[in-house]
Amino acid sequence: MGRFAPSPTGPLHLGSLVAAVGSWLFARSAGGRWLVRLEDLDAPRVVPGAAEEILEALRRYGLGWDGEPVAQSRRAALYEDALARLRAEGLAYDCGCSRAELRRLASAPDARDGAETVYPGTCRAGLAAGRQARAVRFRVPPGVVRFDDLVHGEQTQDVSREVGDFVVRRADGPFAYQLAVVVDDAEQGVTQVVRGADLLASTPRQIALQRALGLPAPEYAHLPLVLGPGGDKLGKRDGALRLLTLDTGRVLETLRLALALLGLEGCGGATPRAMLASALTHFDRAAVPRGPARLSARLEH
Ligand code: GLU
Repeated sequence: MGRFAPSPTGPLHLGSLVAAVGSWLFARSAGGRWLVRLEDLDAPRVVPGAAEEILEALRRYGLGWDGEPVAQSRRAALYEDALARLRAEGLAYDCGCSRAELRRLASAPDARDGAETVYPGTCRAGLAAGRQARAVRFRVPPGVVRFDDLVHGEQTQDVSREVGDFVVRRADGPFAYQLAVVVDDAEQGVTQVVRGADLLASTPRQIALQRALGLPAPEYAHLPLVLGPGGDKLGKRDGALRLLTLDTGRVLETLRLALALLGLEGCGGATPRAMLASALTHFDRAAVPRGPARLSARLEH
């Protein structure tokens, strides 16, 4: 069973369409179900109406999902329960560090390169006297996490050294994406996680959490990122550019482009559903490109 898990922070753009179509193709070509989950935990970033807009866009593109879409904002009890289990095992702890303090440590003269992303473990042994609990962190077990990505091949990361104890509940209250995604995928019975390559680096963290919570590990496939003409990940500020946000009048053309970015050139069909049906018969997971696609080149022809 696969899923598409957009964050309703804006309308679907070409990058998220590639993730939607790619996860649909992986799931359906294996005869599996395909779910939609709205990842709306980060309330300040959620844009009212965006969830409906995304679902409407999926319908327009012929991407039918199974069951009712679920929204993470209604599933706090599940995350609460997982966090309580981690705490009970001594695998989660309160952290009193502010972002400013962590930034200062990372920029200290003796800090290692890239150390800004590594939590130094300040509160691992307990909060110092007078410190207020802010975020909750996962006590990452030592050792290398290894997995085989269906597109990128073998991946390894020593999460404890390269990331450090990461946040599972934020100081401002919401559960962190890393915890919620692991809990949801397991609870919904997802066996195949197919999403953009920007999340490849998060996967070892998620596997470490799955192991700590005794949850099964799904298969992973990370799809090529779609970059804007400047080489950056597509974002809302690119919205004015042709094809970057989805133009209702050009659904077939945009769908054909999304399929081409997934290694399926020349798919035909008079409707999105027909085009997807044709794509499904030709889909070959081994042909999914690894590298990112720069959009400007494609827009020129
Ligand atoms: N909600 C995440 C996003 O929109 C995707 C999470 C996932 O697929 O695991 O980038």
